[in-house]
Amino acid sequence: MRMVLLGPPGAGKGTQANRLAEKLKLPHISTGDLLRQNVKAATSLGKEASDFMDKGLLVPDELVARMLMQRFEHADTKRGFILDGYPRNLKQAETLDEILKARVLDLDIVIYLDTSEAVIIQRLGGRLACSSCGANFHIKNMPPRESGICDNCGGKLYQRTDDQEETIKKRLEVYKKEVYSLIKYYEARKKLYRLSADEDAEIVLEKIIHLAQELDDSPKV
Ligand code: AMP
Repeated sequence: MRMVLLGPPGAGKGTQANRLAEKLKLPHISTGDLLRQNVKAATSLGKEASDFMDKGLLVPDELVARMLMQRFEHADTKRGFILDGYPRNLKQAETLDEILKARVLDLDIVIYLDTSEAVIIQRLGGRLACSSCGANFHIKNMPPRESGICDNCGGKLYQRTDDQEETIKKRLEVYKKEVYSLIKYYEARKKLYRLSADEDAEIVLEKIIHLAQELDDSPKV
């Protein structure tokens, strides 16, 4: 199964992708996580990307595409993947299609996690991320068992620098500018499924799994 999760920052893409990856035994590929790993390791890519990320802007397409292509070289993507944070614009959607086409592959499903602005602000304002494995928690909605410590790996939790109010606003602005063309692109290819992501993570997860199963069971032409 090759799945893309689309949606605004705060839609819960990372949380859902993590859980789906576990359930479906597929790798979760998050371009945001890959970029943050590069920033942390101070690679040349990380150095180029960090300024854009701190400002809530998109990292240039070529840099992200190169990073993604390298990730697709890993054997774990052979059975499929859950992609989160990519594509962010039409050019990236085309690049993704080209990368897959070169491997004689195609996307199976694109899920658009529709989220209201009030929920986005509430979620991002209280979000905590693991500095080690990238898992997300929330001060109120999804607190870790032990304060400041990741349930999954024991890593230290922190507030992302781009989860400050001003940067959140910028990220939403960038998102709104690009999302319409992405929706049209995947609608035209009959890949897009919309879900409301305002509800609890468990409910949204069930809906996604239901969609994925329906797709798996549908006759292949
Ligand atoms: P995320 O973790 O998906 O919210 O991404 C955090 C930041 O990483 C974004 O605000 C961008 O600066 C950068 N980023 C992540 N994915 C992409 C992408 N596909 N294209 C460009 N920039 C990205």
